[in-house]
Amino acid sequence: MPPPSGRDADVVIVGAGIAGASAAYFLAPHASVILLEREEQPGYHTTGRSAALFAESYGNATVRALTRASRAFFTTPPAGFSSAALLAPRGHLIFSRADQKPQLDAATADIEATGTRLERLTGTQVRALVPALHESHAHAGALDPGAQDVDVHALLHGFLRGARAQGVRVHTNAALQAAEFSGRRWRLATTAGEFSAGILVNAGGAWADEVARASGVSALGLSPLRRTVIVFDSARHTGAQTWPMSVSADESLYFRPEAGGFLASPADETPSPPCDAQPEELDIALVIDRLQTATTFDIRRVRAKWAGLRTFAADRSLIAGFDMHQRAFFWLAGQGGYGIQTAPAMGILAAAVIGGKETPRALAEQDLEADGLAPRRFTITGVANKAV
Ligand SMILES: Cc1cc2nc3c(=O)[nH]c(=O)nc-3n(C[C@H](O)[C@H](O)[C@H](O)COP(=O)(O)OP(=O)(O)OC[C@H]3O[C@@H](n4cnc5c(N)ncnc54)[C@H](O)[C@@H]3O)c2cc1C
Repeated sequence: MPPPSGRDADVVIVGAGIAGASAAYFLAPHASVILLEREEQPGYHTTGRSAALFAESYGNATVRALTRASRAFFTTPPAGFSSAALLAPRGHLIFSRADQKPQLDAATADIEATGTRLERLTGTQVRALVPALHESHAHAGALDPGAQDVDVHALLHGFLRGARAQGVRVHTNAALQAAEFSGRRWRLATTAGEFSAGILVNAGGAWADEVARASGVSALGLSPLRRTVIVFDSARHTGAQTWPMSVSADESLYFRPEAGGFLASPADETPSPPCDAQPEELDIALVIDRLQTATTFDIRRVRAKWAGLRTFAADRSLIAGFDMHQRAFFWLAGQGGYGIQTAPAMGILAAAVIGGKETPRALAEQDLEADGLAPRRFTITGVANKAV
């Protein structure tokens, strides 16, 4: 028996985080789409737990190219997409101690090689920008003044609202349990009943390998890594709202202003099974210790704390493409720590590849080829996609 009417579509997307929502939005003009989310609310997992930075100076060269390809959407979204601006000025500062100067120079050279200009700062200039840094931790710096804060809520709900307006059916409390491909169509068993589709898109975030297994597709060996965030009040440093996102050259600490206080992370990457990630006391102690070593913050109160899973492929680049062996199964996974800033380009790319079109112009202009992001790169290059 076919599923009840309204429950079949050209494409079913599993996962309504930023990846699934952006794919639904860009696919909607070309195909009938159903978006399934296990939780009551879209964005409950990693998407709702990010540091909300858009920086063309963050991530590897592929990530940075995807970020540049996304900028136009962030700065000039389609009319009616969001009543709030998606970006707000922030800046991205890499600061270093004297002994970390080689790391700073290497990072600066790597970023500038792909065309993003950084301002090189002396220690005095670093401390003028972020007076909370101890002199010993502000030996030198590099600033990307174009980095921005993202309004993640506006972005996610802009995609979802726009998708629904174009006919996408969004089902929450709908967890995929098993999917079977008959040779022509998928039959999906979920906690909200049965669905069917021609193509299944796996946007399951930390669960992407599990979604594959439940669909009879081999896992890619993705690594969900936990990252912890605190928001704290500090008695000093009022009026710091314009400080940039400040990241140590060895990436062991970052902080930025947040709603009258500050947000900080020890930039931890602890392997975790897919789950509703929670912060560990040890990681909270670690970030406080690192803040007390590097800065003059007087941490009075930890106002909020959370953790989220950043899920990586072995090469730390994102994955968009049909599975090598199951051509009706599309991977949209491995967003790592960059799924927000790359979401427009990844959604555009997913819609183009699923629609059988060429690499979209926004990506081609950044020298990105659809093939380079496809999962087949793991088998062709022989990259062992083991846990990081
Ligand atoms: C602390 C932290 C800081 C970060 N900072 C940044 C940043 O500054 N900039 C940036 O760009 N990125 C940042 N990121 C990364 C970014 O948040 C992620 O890359 C992005 O949110 C991943 O989106 P997603 O849609 O793939 O995953 P998720 O948001 O986790 O969405 C996947 C969804 O799939 C659903 N799902 C899974 N299995 C099933 C199933 N069987 N059936 C139905 N639904 C299912 C889940 O419930 C979930 O809602 C950060 C992440 C963390 C944790």
